[in-house]
Amino acid sequence: MSIIEKNLTELCDAVQKRELKSEAITKAFLDQSTRLNPKLNAYITMNEKALEQARDVDKKIASGAKVGRLAGVPIAIKDMLCTKGIKTTAGSKILHNFIPQYSAAVVEKLEGAGAITIGKTNQDEFAMGSSTETSHYGICRNPWSTDYVPGGSSGGSAAAVSARMAPMAIGTDTGGSVRQPANFCGIVGVKPTYGRVSRYGIVAYASSLDQAGPMGHTVQDCATIMEVISGKDVRDTTSAQEAVPEWSKNLTDNLKGLKIGLPKEYFAEGVSDDVRKVVKNAIDIAKAAGAEIVDVSLPLTHLGVAVYYLVATCEASSNLARYDGVRFGYRSDFEKSPAVDVDDFYSRNRGEGFGSEVKRRIMLGTYALSSGYYDAYYKKACQVRRLLRQNFLDAFKKCDVLLSPASTTPAFKIGERIESPIEMYLNDIYTTSTNLAGLPGMSVPGGFSKDKLPIGVQIMAAHFQEQKMLNVGYAIEKSLNLTREVPNVVR
Ligand code: GLN
Repeated sequence: MSIIEKNLTELCDAVQKRELKSEAITKAFLDQSTRLNPKLNAYITMNEKALEQARDVDKKIASGAKVGRLAGVPIAIKDMLCTKGIKTTAGSKILHNFIPQYSAAVVEKLEGAGAITIGKTNQDEFAMGSSTETSHYGICRNPWSTDYVPGGSSGGSAAAVSARMAPMAIGTDTGGSVRQPANFCGIVGVKPTYGRVSRYGIVAYASSLDQAGPMGHTVQDCATIMEVISGKDVRDTTSAQEAVPEWSKNLTDNLKGLKIGLPKEYFAEGVSDDVRKVVKNAIDIAKAAGAEIVDVSLPLTHLGVAVYYLVATCEASSNLARYDGVRFGYRSDFEKSPAVDVDDFYSRNRGEGFGSEVKRRIMLGTYALSSGYYDAYYKKACQVRRLLRQNFLDAFKKCDVLLSPASTTPAFKIGERIESPIEMYLNDIYTTSTNLAGLPGMSVPGGFSKDKLPIGVQIMAAHFQEQKMLNVGYAIEKSLNLTREVPNVVR
């Protein structure tokens, strides 16, 4: 098996056993990235020091020094996460020249365990989107069929892993942005419980929803990364005290005693036949592995998208107020045409620096927060959000995990939905409620459509019950044995 076909666990083992050098591994993924990035546009920026850092790891290992569990293995980082000394754009023109002074907690932890940041992946601007078509740095393409979107907003991370341009990537999930692109690109993506992973140093989109998570080839790989990146961080007051379990060691495909709920609202009209078939098959696998299947209801599901697009835009309008061109980021050419006053200064910087989807959301959020409308929109959304959360808590009295489609359809064509924001937003119907409730969720490959596009299965669990969810994913993965499937572009 070639280096790039190996998964994260295999690469980590090979480095620890001195069977492979980090330099060889890093070079293999860099070469693949050089070859495929012009086609897929999965990366915005490569880490120019990656090879040098790989050689340093090799030297350390040769000297007999102790190294971390991810030593010498490259990982791709979504451009939402600050990386010290490496440009971090959040997919936006407004941050086109932003070089952070520090790294996000997630990046610190990965690098602390010996991982090498290979590059920064493409994404929808400020993680607002479901297709990676709103990136200022050009659209990203789905490796399985380049006329299709890779999903979003972590589309670059999903495409990079799927096309073997990195063995693992980090994404962020505010309303589905790890799970949906993982689903569209045929890989595993996990959104941990809100609070599991520190948000320190992650460009804030909607702070009460944002959570970073791993995107890789196997459940085991993702569990390993979760162990590395989870845990209390005093720099993020919403990070949880909860102890971090050894998920990767406790994986089992024996689901005896586990109750899996099927929320009937997630199998509504609009779910394509392909998706239905794949999810049905996953249910059969879980049953065969010993799980009991029960029907449950999440009656407020139809309100999820509306509530999400209020809460998220309100928080975004506040979070994005900092991009004014004063201390960092894009600044209009005031030498050519001087600003009339301070308002003109801000509005030119922001008007030229933000793309249209981001502007739409800032306006929507600002409107919903303004006096006279606050009670009717933001406050109401917060109230319904609490009820949605209660829906889940009630369901978890009857079952341990929930299983559903991750999206109604497989990947859609580039350009198909970008002109219709409502249609794009509705795509998020099965993922946004998880974030509103703060629950963990994942997508695991379940099969393919007639057109050979990947289809994932979503699994959700109660707060901090990631192990149960990962076990269901693991059982599906073991039974289907799809982790070595590669898109044709790889060959
Ligand atoms: N598609 C959703 C949005 O556009 C979710 C994005 C995300 O999870 N970052 O907001």
